Amino acid sequence: APAEPSAQHLFSDAAEIEALRRNLLAWYDKCKRDLPWRTLAASELDVDRRAYAVWVSEIMLQQTQVATVIDYYNRWMQKWPTLQALAEASLEEVNELWAGLGYYSRGKRLQEAAKKVVSQLAGRMPRTAEDLQKLLPGVGRYTAGAIASISYGQVRAGRQWQAEEVVSPLCSQQGLAARSRRAEAAWGLCVDMANALVDRSRPGDFNQALMELGATVCVPKAPLCEECPVKQHCRARRRVGVGGCPLCPPAIEPWDSSLGVTNFPRKAVKKQPRVERTATCVLERRGRCGAPEYLIVQRPSSGLLAGLWEFPSLPLALDLQEEKQREVLADHLQAWTGRSVTAGDLRYVGEVIHIFSHIHQTYVIYSLPVDGDVTLDSALSTSRWVTEEQFHASAVSTAMKKV
Ligand code: SF4
Repeated sequence: APAEPSAQHLFSDAAEIEALRRNLLAWYDKCKRDLPWRTLAASELDVDRRAYAVWVSEIMLQQTQVATVIDYYNRWMQKWPTLQALAEASLEEVNELWAGLGYYSRGKRLQEAAKKVVSQLAGRMPRTAEDLQKLLPGVGRYTAGAIASISYGQVRAGRQWQAEEVVSPLCSQQGLAARSRRAEAAWGLCVDMANALVDRSRPGDFNQALMELGATVCVPKAPLCEECPVKQHCRARRRVGVGGCPLCPPAIEPWDSSLGVTNFPRKAVKKQPRVERTATCVLERRGRCGAPEYLIVQRPSSGLLAGLWEFPSLPLALDLQEEKQREVLADHLQAWTGRSVTAGDLRYVGEVIHIFSHIHQTYVIYSLPVDGDVTLDSALSTSRWVTEEQFHASAVSTAMKKV
């Protein structure tokens, strides 16, 4: 039977909701940072271009800090100022520009969605949050809400409501990362609550103000509660909402009074990342102009780091001894290049660790100098020789740059 949410989460007093909106927006008007997507959203008169500009920022800001996004965003909008321009870009170009931003499927989906808008929707962005979510690949409920509220003024909760650092203490929600069915039900509640709180006349600004609050005041480890414009409404400050709601997942960590409001979000225990080891070989030759060149190969078009370039790599069994690793890699390179490669030819360089969201990856790096050209079996992968400069301009991941 559907359980009722506890009143601890709800803002049921209309006067309090009004005060919360007023306080948050007044603070935002005074303290907001100048950000390129905000400038575009405020100045762009063409509604499709405006929605496109907001959409790009919302996708880039998923899982990435504002400071990192700014440069990528400016370069992206300069290169592809319209949906039509993006629809004509190749995935290779998109990956090149996205290189280093992480979560590469975001760029790929943006480009696929742009192609769809141009070819199937006559270049017109869907005009409601519901249609944005339904018609655009990679656009979920909250991203759709953000685009619709900021671009069209539709009253919808935006992606900012996934910023659990703010929403969790403000509404005494449990950590939203917990993915139990009960947590999903609590999420459903959160959507209704979020939509009810969003300011009616300035929904886009309200959502952005919430994000700004999370970035500058309600920061995860040491929130500046005394400076917070919504402190009198904050449920975490009143220390309510600890247990008692049938929709919230059970608290995993006990309440720690020394942590105060930072008891929220009350996260579930995080799944440990998968441990993997990969042998990587940097094949190096003297290029035509005398400068060294390196061989890179393209990853498959789906899966992790889809379509990106890397040094020839091979996953390793975790318990493999160093000597054996070398042999396995040498065999692999020999089969691949059709040349004799022995374990003794490979020079051990070192190891590099890179943490992906769900993988703790160790690259075991070897180098191999070669004379002349190496033709790889093209049925296995596409490859090319690049100088160091070309390597850095290619669609390569941060992990490969570390290598
Ligand atoms: Fe966050 Fe503190 Fe403001 Fe509550 S009062 S929303 S915990 S900064």
